[in-house]
Amino acid sequence: MKEINYDVVIIGAGVAGMTAAIYLKRAGIHCVLIEGNMPGGQVVTTSTITNYPGFKSITGPELATKVLSQVKELEVDILYHQVKNVKLDQEIKTVVLDNDQSIISKNIIIATGREPKKLGISNEQRLTGHGISYCATCDGPLYKGEEVVVIGGGDSALEEAIYLASLCKKVTVIHRREEFRAKSYLQEELRYIDNLEVITSANVTDFIETNGKLSHVRINKNNEVQNIPATGCFVFIGYTPKTDSFTSLGITNENGFIKTNEQMETTIKGIYAIGDVREKEICQIVTATADGATAAIFLAKSFN
Ligand code: NAP
Repeated sequence: MKEINYDVVIIGAGVAGMTAAIYLKRAGIHCVLIEGNMPGGQVVTTSTITNYPGFKSITGPELATKVLSQVKELEVDILYHQVKNVKLDQEIKTVVLDNDQSIISKNIIIATGREPKKLGISNEQRLTGHGISYCATCDGPLYKGEEVVVIGGGDSALEEAIYLASLCKKVTVIHRREEFRAKSYLQEELRYIDNLEVITSANVTDFIETNGKLSHVRINKNNEVQNIPATGCFVFIGYTPKTDSFTSLGITNENGFIKTNEQMETTIKGIYAIGDVREKEICQIVTATADGATAAIFLAKSFN
């Protein structure tokens, strides 16, 4: 199969990857976007976005469609394929697709994102967007004045529980162990929040629904079953980066996220990572687009 050459190959058409494509194309750089599923990434699965500047309220699919149409208007090449792996030969990178097509470039931007870990409860997927959420910043305001549950005992769970307590009538944090993994200052902060209850050493066993929406979270603590009333349940049990195709490059940390410098470049010259796949603390739509712009601007400079 004939090899194709580009100045920059962007892997992943979430908002980070699409933003990089917009900046690169406008700078006259010959680039391609490679996407294995639907463009838009995690944004597509977000019900309502109320924190993206310029849009008071917009659905995830609407925002993704708008960004994609901007990419298409600029006539960026898009290939709909999964990436199998990336091979290195000095400064040349070969991106191998699932149809064995090879794309050759000196520069690649990895923008494959991450996915929240799921509990694996049978109706969890069906209730996502109808009570179950993996993003408090995105969906918290939808549960203003209501009772919600937060699952997990790490930094994300506790930070988001504290945020949700400022909006919701009551927040119940459910953690499977007695000790929290989260930083001690977060654990300390929980103690002073009146409308926040913590239940430790408890496992979530079922999501109970009424008329197709979450109404209770069933837990088991010391073999005693309890149904906690909740219209919202926020699951924060960690994230899985989508970096399986890049592990051989040796650019990932112990959790599989890709380390970069401030220019979004990894330890390998010409390999960049942007958005949620990158090792960083804040994962928002604005930070993903900012990463995309940053990588593209530095890359564009390198062509001058
Ligand atoms: P995390 O630290 O991996 O914590 C995941 C939590 O979910 C743990 O309490 C874990 O319980 C629990 N858990 C895992 N699988 C579960 C299951 N199947 N059922 C029930 N509970 C389960 O994840 P994270 O909080 O998203 O943080 C990820 C990384 O980002 C961490 O390194 C964290 O420090 C960092 N982070 C930092 C900040 C900050 O510094 N401001 C904010 C957010 C995240 P166990 O403890 O029992 O394993």
